[in-house]
Amino acid sequence: MQLRAWIVAVLALGLALAGAAAQAEGAGLGGFRPLPRPSDLRPSPMPVPDPVPDPVPAAPSPTRMPPAPSAARPAGQDFTALARLEPARSAIQDVGDEVWVELGLSQPVAWRVYTLADPPRLVLDFREVDFGSLRPAAILRSQEVRALRWGRVGPGRSRLVAELSGPFTVAEAEQRTPAPTAIRLRLAPATAAEFAARAGVPETALWDLPQAARLDPPHRRQDGSDPLRIVLDPGHGGLDPGAEAQGISEAGLVLTFARELAERLRRAGMQVVMTRKDDVFVPLETRMSVARAAGADVFVSLHADALAEGEATGATLYLLDEDASDDASRRLAERHDRDDLLAGVDLSGHDDEVARVLMELARVETEPRNDRLARSLRDALKSAGLRMHKRPIQQAAFSVLKSPDIPSILIELGFMSSAADRARLTSPDWRARMADAIARGLADWARGDAAEGRLLRQ
Ligand SMILES: [Zn+2]
Repeated sequence: MQLRAWIVAVLALGLALAGAAAQAEGAGLGGFRPLPRPSDLRPSPMPVPDPVPDPVPAAPSPTRMPPAPSAARPAGQDFTALARLEPARSAIQDVGDEVWVELGLSQPVAWRVYTLADPPRLVLDFREVDFGSLRPAAILRSQEVRALRWGRVGPGRSRLVAELSGPFTVAEAEQRTPAPTAIRLRLAPATAAEFAARAGVPETALWDLPQAARLDPPHRRQDGSDPLRIVLDPGHGGLDPGAEAQGISEAGLVLTFARELAERLRRAGMQVVMTRKDDVFVPLETRMSVARAAGADVFVSLHADALAEGEATGATLYLLDEDASDDASRRLAERHDRDDLLAGVDLSGHDDEVARVLMELARVETEPRNDRLARSLRDALKSAGLRMHKRPIQQAAFSVLKSPDIPSILIELGFMSSAADRARLTSPDWRARMADAIARGLADWARGDAAEGRLLRQ
């Protein structure tokens, strides 16, 4: 049987066992999926349930209304508990020219999302969510959202309304399960015409019925017919400067290099998306989400860390190994997983059994592609005469490399702890040679990888 058929079969089995997950929209791998347009949904068997007044401000309610029970729901779930908004895992923030919404929830909830005009607004309806006494301003960090309100709009129903600075459309939306559950939206700037075409209450009452679980279509493997799409991930940023030495920060250095490399790759006809373009903090998980949302063919994280002098000098290519036992690798990985804690995100909690099995299956296909990626880059760097670590390809438990279906690599361009490496890293000439070599390594890899992809599809 083909790998993808296995994935679907295992998912179906897993969700049948994990009844709770089947109630929620979506499951498993944590990627965004396209939001169906209203016209794609089946016609409503019932009238649209709600008018759309903006909600009254939330007031702590002494009598919590449980959601109405439904015979179609899987047995064994606690229906009396409301989904609670978890502020530590919730934020509305600007990412590039987009607005990203992340709402951490204590459990899955039936929901729908749509936009309304005059003024432009984003509306989320929920079966019912307990917002507690939290003020909306506490999670609002977007310049594009002028006002944020939430509260109950009737028995068992809640609503969130975000007033937008202009026309945005919902580019992607998902409720990620299993725990920790989160609703995630990506709003992309739109023209007035695009906004008008999509605004309105969806003609469906399906949102409050249990939804059949859906699986992300597996990411289409690149076959050379489109430009290679590379997500560059300059490590660290914002409140996390990374390694620091002699007044230079790793965060600033790798951002400079990423911009130069992006230029070089674009000149070679590749498409580049950056996980950050400025000195801002980006949680590890968001970095992987950017790759997924961008449909990345390959993810390249750029670093220049510090380790004790002697054990670390020269460029090093890191592949994921969650059980890496090597001491230096472990210290490096631990240092980077600290920014999970900074962001209040715990990646370790994601891997329930179903998700774990799925990820393992996807990795079976991706791992050899990763290995070849590392070898291509090593060969390109060596033939450019660039200094590499005595073990140029290593493995470590870097969480940012955990996307199971996107070839991912972390490049330590050099080590800030080494004076010789620092001199190279701060030299524009050296960086240009490095960018050139990486571009050639990626192109070499992509050619072989595309040929194999075409072969496998036949
Ligand atoms: Zn780093």
